[in-house]
Amino acid sequence: MPNLPRKHLFDLPEGMIYLDGNSLGPLPRAVQGELASVVADQWGGHLIKGWNLDGWMDQPRRVGNRIAGLIGAPDGSVVMGDTLSIKVYQALSAAVQMRPDRRVILSDSGNFPSDLYIAQGLVQHLDRGHELRIVAPEDVADAITDEVAAVMITQVDYRTGRMHDMADITARAQAAGAVMIWDLAHSAGAVPVDLAGSGCEFAVGCTYKYLNGGPGSPAFIYIRPDIVDQAQPALAGWMGHDAPFAFEQGYRPAPDIERMRVGTPPVLQMSVLETALSVWDGVDMAELRAASVALCDQFIAEVETACPQLELASPRDAAQRGSQVSFRFAHGYAAMQALIARDVIGDFRAPDVMRFGFTPLYVDAADVTRAVQILAEVIQTRAYEDPAYQARGRVT
Ligand SMILES: *Cc1c(COP(=O)(O)O)cnc(C)c1O
Repeated sequence: MPNLPRKHLFDLPEGMIYLDGNSLGPLPRAVQGELASVVADQWGGHLIKGWNLDGWMDQPRRVGNRIAGLIGAPDGSVVMGDTLSIKVYQALSAAVQMRPDRRVILSDSGNFPSDLYIAQGLVQHLDRGHELRIVAPEDVADAITDEVAAVMITQVDYRTGRMHDMADITARAQAAGAVMIWDLAHSAGAVPVDLAGSGCEFAVGCTYKYLNGGPGSPAFIYIRPDIVDQAQPALAGWMGHDAPFAFEQGYRPAPDIERMRVGTPPVLQMSVLETALSVWDGVDMAELRAASVALCDQFIAEVETACPQLELASPRDAAQRGSQVSFRFAHGYAAMQALIARDVIGDFRAPDVMRFGFTPLYVDAADVTRAVQILAEVIQTRAYEDPAYQARGRVT
C-alpha cells in the first residue's frame, strides 16, 4: 500500500487512536491555514467582492465536482449545500413527484432515523395517501413492487455496517418502474461507489464523516443528468433559480443540478471542506477499499480472540460490509466510555452496539492491534464498571 496511510496530512492528537471517522472525520492539516486566509483575506479583505473574486458563488458546484470524482458521478451532476436531512427531503419529494400515480415510499429498518423521519414528514405534508413502507434490509429487493414510487435506501447501515448491493437494488427498482435514491452517508469516502454505472436517479450524502469536512459541513445531492429537468425542487430558493440575480417574481428552476441549491451557501464551512478534500488527491478508491477490508478483518479476528464476551454485529463477509465494524456487548456504553478515556475513540449506538470506523487514510494495522489490546484490558479488568463511565452525555 504505497499510498496509504496518509497520517501526516491530518492533525490527530498525539497518542489518540481515532476509530470514529465514520461519525466525524479528523482535521486535515491544511485546513487551519486555509481557513485563516479565507477569513482574513477573502472575507476580511474582499468583503462582498468575494462572491466573484474568490469564486464563492461557484463553490457549491466546484466542490460538488470534487465529490463527484469520489462517487463515480460525472462533472456537473453533484451540488453542495444544507444538511443531509434537507437533501433527503429534496430528493424524495422530487422522486415522489416523478411517479404521481404511485403511493409507496420503500425504505428499510436499517436506515438512519432522520431519513425515515423526513419521509414521514413528507407523507404527512403531501396528504395524498402516501405510505412509508419500512421492511427488513434483507427483504428490500422483494418488496419493490409496482406500487412503489421511490426506493430510498442508505447503502451502508450506520449501526452494523451491512452494505446493500447498489447495482442490484437499483436494477430491481427500475425494472419495477420506481425511482431509486441512495443515501451515501457511510459510503462516500468509505467504499468505491459507481453512481453513473448504477443508473440510479438520485443520491445524497454528508461530508463530515469519511470526507473530513468538519462538524456541520454541507451535504451533497446528485441527480442523473438526463432526468434533472424532471426533478421539481421542493425548496424553491433563489439560489436554485435559473437567474438568481434577475430577481424575477416567479420561480424558474436552473436547468441543471444547481436547481437543488436553496439559499446562500456557508462559504467558510464550504472552504474548509474544499481544502479537506485535498487529502484525497491521488487516492485510488480500490486501494483504499483493500486497506479498509484488511483493517476491518484484522480487528474482527483480534477482538474475537481477545474479547470473546463481545458478539460481532457486522457482516463477517467483507463484501457485505462498509468500512466499520460493530460489536454487541451488554455493557457497551460504559465500555466505550472507558475506551475513550484511554484515548481509543469509537462510539456507541443504542441499545448495545460498540461501533468502530476504519479509515485507512489515517489508521494503520499497528493502531488496530493497540486498540484491541486496550479494549481487551477494559473488558478483562471490567474497567467499565467504574461509575464514572455510566453517565450519558447528550451525544453518544
Ligand atoms: C449521518 C446521517 C444523517 C445525518 O443527517 P444530517 O442532516 O447531516 O444531520 C442522515 N442520514 C444518514 C443515513 C446518516 O448516516
